Formats: sequence, C-alpha cells, structure tokens
Amino acid sequence: MEPHVTQNLETQNSSPKRLLDKVAVITGGARGIGAATAKLFAENGAHVIIADVLDDEGTKVAELIGGLYIHCDVSKESDIESAINLSISWKGHLDIMFNNAGIAGYEGRSITTIDMEKLSHLLSINLFGTIHGIKHASKAMIKGKKGGSIICTSSTASIMGGYASHAYTMSKAAMDGLMRSCACELGVHLIRVNCISPHGVPSEMLLNAFKCFGKVDITCEELSEFIGKKASLLKGRGATIEDVSQAALFLASDESGFITAHNLFVDGGITSANSLNS
Ligand code: NAD
Repeated sequence: MEPHVTQNLETQNSSPKRLLDKVAVITGGARGIGAATAKLFAENGAHVIIADVLDDEGTKVAELIGGLYIHCDVSKESDIESAINLSISWKGHLDIMFNNAGIAGYEGRSITTIDMEKLSHLLSINLFGTIHGIKHASKAMIKGKKGGSIICTSSTASIMGGYASHAYTMSKAAMDGLMRSCACELGVHLIRVNCISPHGVPSEMLLNAFKCFGKVDITCEELSEFIGKKASLLKGRGATIEDVSQAALFLASDESGFITAHNLFVDGGITSANSLNS
C-alpha cells in the first residue's frame, strides 16, 4: 500500500474541529437557524451558551450539546450583559457572538397604517437587540485581547423591498450599516463583524409570516418547495436551515480570518436577479 494513500484517507476520515475550545453566545438559539448553528458549533468543539426567551426549548438544545442556557430577552440590555458575563464566568473568555434572535412582524404592511408601537417593538428586538449584543460582546473581547468574531443574522430584506414589512426591512438594513460601522471600529482589536443574509429558510418565523399572507396550512416541506420554484436561481433547490448554519460556522472559524464588514448572502442567488425568472 502506498503510504501517502493511507495518510490521505486518515485526513479525509478525521473531521477537524473548526471551533475547538472557542466560547460562543447564540441569541435566538432555542429553535430554527440558531438551534441548528448551536449544534454545528458544538460538533466543531465550541462551548455554546443559548440565550433565548423560550426556556424549555432552549434548555433542551443546551442539554443536547453540553452547553448552557440563559433566559435572555435581547431587547433588554441587562439580559445580554448577563449572557456575556456567563461566558466569562464559565470559560473565562468569549470568542464568538451570534446575534441571531429576530422576529418577523408582517402585520401592518402599509406605510399609511404603520403602527408605531409594533414598529418600536420589532426594532427593540431586531435592531436594538443586535446593538446590545455587539456592545457587550465587543467589550468582553477587547478585554480578552484575543480578538473574536461577531456575526449578525440580517436578511435579503436588507437590500430588497416589497416582500417583508417596512419594519422588518428597515431593521435589517440598519443592521447592515451597524455591522459595517462596528467592523471599522473594532478591526484594530482583531474583532471581525459580519452579517449573514438568508432567504426563505423554512423556520417557525417564516411559517408564521406565510400564515399572515393567508397561506394558513403551509408546511415546512411545501414552503421549501415554493422557495425552490419561485425564489431561488437554483431551480428546485430551496434553502435549508443548515445552509445558514454552515455559513455561520465559516464566519465564526479562523478560516474566515481576513473577512470582516461583509454581508454573506445565503439566498440561492436571488438578490442578483432582476426578476423571479421562472
Ligand atoms: P425562528 O422563529 O425559528 O427563531 C427565532 C428565535 O429567536 C427563536 O428561538 C425565538 O424565541 C428567538 N427570539 C425572538 N425574540 C427574542 C427576544 N426578544 N430575545 C431573545 N430571543 C428571541 O426563526 P429563524 O428563521 O431561525 O430566525 C433567526 C434569524 O434569521 C432572525 O433574525 C430572522 O430575522 C433571520 N432570517 C430568517 C429568514 C428565514 O427565511 N427564516 C430569512 C432572513 C433572515
């Protein structure tokens, strides 16, 4: 047997842990994209803290991956501060902050009837929650002097109007600006700040949004099929939650070490098309 062949097989069979001993806080980690990312991060050697408002679901995910759960409403700055403090008291450092919690808020889709209270509520989670996350994670990372990776879940709505509510669209567009601005400030500390922009991922949030459009009984499978047919350049290929968690893993790992101030679209190419070419 050729010695080099054996070596190649060994390399193929071993799955390198891309986040070995890194500590991550994931907001909105109880379900959907956040839960899938928590599992993938843990499989890759990270110690993960799930920060969410869904205590039962969040605790289950944390138990499954050997992580911790903390009740954290991202709209409350002190909750985020506690989640970051937990990472320091648990492992002594914070390496990855995934600001992923978000709500859709499809109600009130006309600017003529926009409800300012609902708008404020959405912004308090999608935008102010992200500001709280970046603020306290970066403070801990600067103190730790080892850099870090901050990732925010934006959306294709950050650059496309017309399919989500005004509130949601503006929250994600503002998140993009915030990300770039913070990346400029924090680069000197080797802290990278990036966004991921998914599109049409079958999750509880998107199912609920579709219900608001009157598609009451739609299932995850039907939703995925719909996206594959109507809202992806990759015909027949709808988005999966894992498509997004793999992007988060890349941005969290050292493999993306020279990437900052970037918005990574996980959208089947749809934002590059000038129409939904069917
Ligand atoms: P999801 O509903 O499955 O998950 C959202 C999570 O956020 C839940 O665990 C929920 O409890 C948590 N959350 C909500 N409000 C919170 C708060 N105040 N504090 C803490 N946690 C809170 O939906 P998802 O699709 O996995 O959404 C995750 C992120 O992805 C969101 O930011 C969403 O805007 C974004 N996104 C999703 C899609 C999609 O197609 N599903 C597309 C673009 C962007």
